[in-house]
Amino acid sequence: MLAILHPDTPLGSEPYRHTMEFLNNLPGIAVKVHEVEGATQTLTEIYLLGDTKSLDKDEIEALPAVERVIRISDEYRILGRHRDDNRQSGFTYNGVAFNQDNLNIFAGLCAVDTPEHVNMMMKALQEHGEVCTRMGAYKPRTNPYSFQGHGKGCLPWVFEAAGKHGIKVIAMEITHESHIDEIDECLEKLGRPTGVMLQVGTRNTQNFELLKSIGRQKTYPVLLKRGFGITLNESLNAAEYLASEGNANVVFCLRGMKTEAGQPHRNMVDFAHVPTVKRLTRMPVCIDPSHSVGSRDRAPDGIPEVMHATAQGIVAGANMVLVDFHPKPEKALVDGPQALLMNELSTFIEDVRGCHELWQKRRVLYRKGDASQQ
Ligand code: PEP
Ligand code: MN
Repeated sequence: MLAILHPDTPLGSEPYRHTMEFLNNLPGIAVKVHEVEGATQTLTEIYLLGDTKSLDKDEIEALPAVERVIRISDEYRILGRHRDDNRQSGFTYNGVAFNQDNLNIFAGLCAVDTPEHVNMMMKALQEHGEVCTRMGAYKPRTNPYSFQGHGKGCLPWVFEAAGKHGIKVIAMEITHESHIDEIDECLEKLGRPTGVMLQVGTRNTQNFELLKSIGRQKTYPVLLKRGFGITLNESLNAAEYLASEGNANVVFCLRGMKTEAGQPHRNMVDFAHVPTVKRLTRMPVCIDPSHSVGSRDRAPDGIPEVMHATAQGIVAGANMVLVDFHPKPEKALVDGPQALLMNELSTFIEDVRGCHELWQKRRVLYRKGDASQQ
């Protein structure tokens, strides 16, 4: 059961004390407090865990600090979408909103290689009015002899370039908890010219200790990739690990499933799950068509297959797209064959924005249909 307190209830106030005293004395019920910091107010959510069936919802709703009470299912307690649950979805980070209604494009380099390429990428994004990008510094590689990313060493020049080009959020994968401090120390030293969304890669979706470390900090939001060989439920529970540790600013990313059945694509594209994740949880949903499709092959209609896959996800309501571009894919140190070319950026952005508008139109169409049947 979830008790939501009146916005901005001071934690030391009399109504708060009275409410907590009552809740803490409920037999067999554990009480867990979760703070949600919004742009204009702080919401306190109190999770009542245990056998809550016998609890009287009206009685708890009558407590002085409580605004309303929601009966929640056991699954995805914090991030889930429960019955009668109209809590907001998403969050704002460094001036950029992430929710289940809007769209952010994160085009960029799979792996940071040279300052020249990073600058070319960011300059192009700035010219298109884009404020987000992807930049891999810590690369988890199948082969131990493959390039592992420039790591900590590239952070100063990547962050400085981002500041110069008005980039507000960089999606950056981390593979170890020490990387959080490396990123934080570097940003702090530079005066925070940009922001970082910590990415958990598909190989680490169930690295529970890494999830707990990331969940314990609230400075950076998280982009959690779906695990490549586990069920959707298991991946959504991985997201809940982050929230249960305190950080509910999580975007969930579909990136395809590893199965021979997906060939010749790199992974089996799973973007039909975009609306499913939005139905089961309140997380904004991202798609990664680059790592799903894995090439820039063109269909006979002249449209790259990776763009067709992107369109499918966005028309179905995806809220973010993570996509590989590279100024010189033949020189890229990681995943060159799937990187789109800089001269494809305009078309990509126009197509994606158009698909998002189509999703908005479809939503209106179905709402009208529902209204006419009532
Ligand atoms: C990536 O986005 O660079 C990446 C390695 O993706 P994934 O974890 O989905 O394979
Ligand atoms: Mn990659």
